Order: sequence, then C-alpha cells, then structure tokens
Amino acid sequence: MKQTILDAVKDYFSPVSNLFKAKSAKPKDANEAMFIQIRDNGCLDCGSHDFLEGPTASIAMNIKCANCGSKYNIAPMMQFAERI
Ligand SMILES: [Zn+2]
Repeated sequence: MKQTILDAVKDYFSPVSNLFKAKSAKPKDANEAMFIQIRDNGCLDCGSHDFLEGPTASIAMNIKCANCGSKYNIAPMMQFAERI
C-alpha cells in the first residue's frame, strides 16, 4: 500500500513510530534509501555536499548539486528523495 503524504506527516509526529524508525536500519523504499544516501554521502553523482536550494512546496523542496548540477526533490520530514 502506498503511503500518502498525510500518513507520513502523522508518522513523523508520532514519537512511538519514531522509536521504531530509529531501530530500523533498512529503508522502507527506494526513495527513503536515496534520501539517506544524499544526507550521508552527498550528491549521488559526484559526492558533493554543497546543494543550492530551489523552489519549495509545503514539505518538499528542490535542491541542485552546486558541483555537477544534478537535481533532486527532497522531503526531509518524510525522508524522501527522488531525482528530477
Ligand atoms: Zn553532484
């Protein structure tokens, strides 16, 4: 079942589920895996941690690698990232 944005927001604000989240080492999907990789290792293409902030919509924002120009849409609250 696909998680909606509302579910993710509820999830984020629930301390109990955050406890479980902290114990879970395995990302729940490819978007979360991508978010964690960008957060920990920087740009997927060049490893740069220097990002330019683009347009922001509610909980999501567009970022662009300052080094190689790769673009991502991320939602830190949901630990979500995708290429754009
Ligand atoms: Zn880059």
